[in-house]
Amino acid sequence: MSDDNSYDAIVIGAGISGLLSALVLSKKGKRVLIVDKESFIGGMCRSYDVEGYMVDTGPHVITRLDSGPLKELMDKYFDVVPSFVPHGTYHVRINESVKPFPWSVRDWMLFDLLPLEDRSLMMKTAFDIVYMLSVGKDLSRVSIADVVPRNLSRVTTSFLDYLSHFMLGTSVNDAPISRFVDRKEYNRDKLNENNSLNIPYVGRLYNLLIGGKPSDQMYPKGGIQKIVDSIKISLPKNAHINLNENLISIDVESSQKKGQAVQKVCGIKTDKNEYKCDTVIYSGFPNELPEIIKHDLPVEYVQNMRNIEQVKSLTVWLGLEKEVFTEQGSEMWVSPDPSGLHTWVVPTSNFDPYLAPKGSQLVGFAFIVPENIPQRELRDRALDTIFTTMPELENCVDMIHHQELVPEKACWSINSGFSDVVTPVKNLYCVGSSTVKRSMGLTRSAYSVLRMMNQMAIDRNGI
Ligand SMILES: Cc1cc2nc3c(=O)[nH]c(=O)nc-3n(C[C@H](O)[C@H](O)[C@H](O)COP(=O)(O)OP(=O)(O)OC[C@H]3O[C@@H](n4cnc5c(N)ncnc54)[C@H](O)[C@@H]3O)c2cc1C
Repeated sequence: MSDDNSYDAIVIGAGISGLLSALVLSKKGKRVLIVDKESFIGGMCRSYDVEGYMVDTGPHVITRLDSGPLKELMDKYFDVVPSFVPHGTYHVRINESVKPFPWSVRDWMLFDLLPLEDRSLMMKTAFDIVYMLSVGKDLSRVSIADVVPRNLSRVTTSFLDYLSHFMLGTSVNDAPISRFVDRKEYNRDKLNENNSLNIPYVGRLYNLLIGGKPSDQMYPKGGIQKIVDSIKISLPKNAHINLNENLISIDVESSQKKGQAVQKVCGIKTDKNEYKCDTVIYSGFPNELPEIIKHDLPVEYVQNMRNIEQVKSLTVWLGLEKEVFTEQGSEMWVSPDPSGLHTWVVPTSNFDPYLAPKGSQLVGFAFIVPENIPQRELRDRALDTIFTTMPELENCVDMIHHQELVPEKACWSINSGFSDVVTPVKNLYCVGSSTVKRSMGLTRSAYSVLRMMNQMAIDRNGI
C-alpha cells in the first residue's frame, strides 16, 4: 500500500505489547502505523516525575530475562537494550516476622511463618500435583481450592490467597494449578511441546520441588519506561506513531473463497481519521472488541469476550526522607486479618538511587483492591496498612502519590473468559496480557507477540 492513509499493518495501542508488535513488523519491512488514544507511549509501562521522584505505573519486576520471550525479542530486534539490575530477594512479611520466600522443599519446611502442620499438608498436596502431572491430568481446570486441604489455618489460607491474587488476579477458588507448574525455560519448552513422552513433567517436577531462587528477575535502570524508550529508539522509519487518536472501529470486508464466506480486516476509523490496511494488531481491552468490530461475530466469541474479568490495583508511592528498606529485593506483606490488605512492597530506588532525590528512598506499595470499595476508603485503608505494619515510616514521608490501574487485561481464572491472539476476523490479531496463559505482565505480553508472529507465518501473512 502506498498512499498516506494506507499501511501494511496498524497497531492499536502504544503499550509494551503494541510497541513490540510494531517493532517486529516494521523491522521485517512492513509499513506500520501505531495509534494510541493517550498523549504518551508506554500504557502501563511508564515512568514519570512526582516531586523529584521517578515513579513507575505500579512497581515492576521483569521475569524470565535470561532466556524468556522478552530476551528473545530484545536480542533480535532492539538496537538499544536497557540496563537491568537484579531484583534480589523476595521476602514474606506476616505480622511482625520477615523471612525470604521459600523456593525449595528445604526452605519450605523451615518457613516457620506458617504452622508446621500446614506446611506438611501442603507438601503432600505438592506431591499429589506432581502425580496428577505424571498421569497427564489437565490442571488448567483444577483450582488451588480443589487440591489444598480444607483444614489449613487462617494464616496459610491468606498466604495462598496472596499468591493467587498477585499471580493470576483471582481467588484460590478460581486460580488454576497449571499457573504454578508453568516452566520458566522458553526455548526448551518449545522443544518439549513436540515430545510425546512425559519429559516436560520431569522439568516441571524439578521446578516445583527444587526450583531455587529465581535469578532471572530484573528491574530496568532509570525506570520501567526505559524498556518502551528502547523500543521507540529501535523503531525504523517505516513505523509511525500517532498519539491522542482514539480507535472508533475496526472495519471488516466480506468475500467468498472456495464457496466459504471470509471476513477480513480492511482498515480502521479513529476520532481523527480513516485508514486502510492489510492487518490490524489490537492491544486494547479485548472485551471492547465486539463493539469496535463493525461486523457480526460468532456468538461464542462475543460471549467469551464479555466473560473476561479484570482486577484493579492501587499503588501508593512513598518518597521517604531516609533509607528505611536496606535489602535489595521486595517484600510480600500477607495480611492474615481479612480487614487488612495484601501488599507488594518494592523500594525501586534500591535498584537505581537516581529515582529518588539524594539520601531519600522511593518505595511502591501495590495493593489488591477488594471489590466494591470506594476510592477514598481504599486509599485510607492502604495508608493504614502501611503505617500499622511499619509505624516508623509515618514520620519520614516526603511524598505520597496514588495510582489506580488495571495490571492485566484478563484474569487467568478457571471460570472467566480469556482472549486469544487469533480472532474470528482474518488478519486481525490481539496481543497483550489477555491473550496467552503463560507467566505474567511484560513477559506474558512478549509471549503474545511471539505467538502473533507465529500465527502470521501460519496465515502466510507476509512474515
Ligand atoms: C500495579 C502494577 C504492577 C505491575 N507489576 C508488574 C510486574 O512486576 N512485572 C510485569 O511484567 N508486569 C507488571 N505489570 C503489568 C504490566 O505493566 C502490563 O501487563 C503491561 O504493561 C501491559 O502492556 P500492554 O501493552 O499489553 O497494555 P497497556 O500498557 O494497557 O497498553 C495498551 C495501550 O492501548 C491503548 N488503547 C486502548 N484502547 C485504545 C483505543 N480505543 N484507541 C487507541 N488506543 C487505545 C492504551 O492507551 C494503552 O496505551 C504491572 C501492572 C500494574 C498496573
